[in-house]
Amino acid sequence: MSALPSMSGHAAGAEAYDVVVVGAGFAGMYMLHRLRGQGLKVRVYEQGGDVGGTWYWNRYPGARCDVESMQYSYSFSDELQQQWDWSERYAPQPEILGYANHVADRFNLRPDIAFDTRIDGAAFDEATGCWAVTTSHGNTVTADYFVLATGCLSNARMPDIRGLGDFKGKVYHTGHWPHQPVDFTGLRVGVIGTGSSGIQSVPVIAEQASHLTVFQRTANFSIPARNAALTAEEREAFRARYGEIRRFAREEARNGIYTEMPDRGALDDGDNERRTKYEARWSHGGLTFMSVYNNLALDKAANDTAANFVRDKIADIVRDPQTARLLQPDNHPIGSKRICVDSDYFATFNRPNVTLVDIRANPIEEILANAVRSGGKEYEVDALVLATGFDAMTGSVARIDIRGRNGQTLNRKWAEGPRTYLGLMSAGFPNLFIITGPGSPSVLSNMIVSIEQHVDWISDCIAYMRDHGFDSLEAEKDAEDKWVAHVNEVAFSTLYPQANSWYMGANIPGKPRIFMPYIGGVGPYRQICNEVAAKGYEGFAITAMARPRAVAVAS
Ligand SMILES: Cc1cc2nc3c(=O)[nH]c(=O)nc-3n(C[C@H](O)[C@H](O)[C@H](O)COP(=O)(O)OP(=O)(O)OC[C@H]3O[C@@H](n4cnc5c(N)ncnc54)[C@H](O)[C@@H]3O)c2cc1C
Repeated sequence: MSALPSMSGHAAGAEAYDVVVVGAGFAGMYMLHRLRGQGLKVRVYEQGGDVGGTWYWNRYPGARCDVESMQYSYSFSDELQQQWDWSERYAPQPEILGYANHVADRFNLRPDIAFDTRIDGAAFDEATGCWAVTTSHGNTVTADYFVLATGCLSNARMPDIRGLGDFKGKVYHTGHWPHQPVDFTGLRVGVIGTGSSGIQSVPVIAEQASHLTVFQRTANFSIPARNAALTAEEREAFRARYGEIRRFAREEARNGIYTEMPDRGALDDGDNERRTKYEARWSHGGLTFMSVYNNLALDKAANDTAANFVRDKIADIVRDPQTARLLQPDNHPIGSKRICVDSDYFATFNRPNVTLVDIRANPIEEILANAVRSGGKEYEVDALVLATGFDAMTGSVARIDIRGRNGQTLNRKWAEGPRTYLGLMSAGFPNLFIITGPGSPSVLSNMIVSIEQHVDWISDCIAYMRDHGFDSLEAEKDAEDKWVAHVNEVAFSTLYPQANSWYMGANIPGKPRIFMPYIGGVGPYRQICNEVAAKGYEGFAITAMARPRAVAVAS
């Protein structure tokens, strides 16, 4: 399939595309596939050297998905989901990256992706109605539509710690891991950060390092993954029911994960029955622990029952009572920060070569040439692993100088926190779409479910625009204001805002505290988006500029 370049109002000389997409992770790849299928001329720009996004960058030891692979995978091609074999319940990073590469080959995506190319800026030209997009190589191209598939967890956060630059050993960030395996054998290693990446990497690094010191500011809740190889029978059983499983994940599940829906609250059961249910989920493992009851995210007393169960488990596993106490989360409801899924994380602290340091009580004062100093004590290390997370949801968008109507920058507009309509568009920035942006379920869900929903909606929207001869689509301010208020109202009816989480921007000094993702659930959210589209894109201003259009031709 190919298309004539759009002739609509593009600046002379610059390469003209119907759509420019930024990012070649799962979102950008599927976006390219869909739009190309509509006969559009599309260019994807990716700052990394290949496809895969998250799975291209996060190569740290122990990296794997925490949504089960049979579900953390594309559903748009039945042949693909029927033919691809996941080896484990939670595939490790190399396998997920292999899957991304397979998808790129299978759908011949690479010819339309420019790798090793960062997008630095994009400006909306009101006269032509096009976006002028500038690359890190100094080129400018134009596009009718500009799609940010830049990822919610793609802007690795470097901590601002005195002396970090003076450290003589190697420093690694989990979100920017080298492509060659790193061997910690015989080294004293320090891991700073105990979020998901820290929790996944600590048990593996502990097996190699002569000594591992884990610097913990916030203890996090983690549920055992119970990872295991998938048998052919298990895969087949899943595949036979894929239609229903995917439908449920899209339309009924709150978080895009197929699981039984709880019909009771935690306080509806007595102590024994509750414990039996928690034990069953703990033994089963994984994120669905939070689906035991229907009010764990809403009612603090209900939440406490689950939180106390996990704290008790930590105390059972970790032999040293003081270390166990430090590992027990005490400053947020369970689930109000993204719950972690681990393989032997807590048991790792029983190893003689692992030390836990509480940097909430004793913040890191300084990094020296060969040590980390906290609470006046020096912990000698030969290598440092920064598992310090990301400037989530808005970080990668903010690094692009995006200028909409009247030259307004998106960064200025979002200075007090991101504002979008449906998480898809922001008023004043016509024809600019964001995939899994703030204001959509995004990071609260199985992200591939949310990515596919956004990509499908955006593709359908662009097809609608072209079919009707429209050129410009823009979120109306009023619709945006109402959506932002709704997102907040839903968030503040839950326990989520009680945590200082990256959902709130709380891990980035100076970032406004706004609850960014939409908690309403992927099913209801999809319904809202569909209704908006069915009503002729209600809440969006649509205009035609009466400019000449290119005609798509199939070859
Ligand atoms: C370690 C880890 C484990 C995870 N596990 C799960 C899981 O189990 N389940 C789940 O649902 N989610 C998980 N996630 C979230 C994960 O990010 C999403 O599932 C998904 O991979 C996001 O895909 P994406 O294409 O939207 O973004 P990404 O995969 O982040 O891709 C975005 C791409 O855009 C590129 N980019 C950004 N800015 C620019 C620019 N200016 N110019 C050019 N290129 C740019 C980046 O280099 C990146 O390659 C995990 C995240 C991490 C970090």
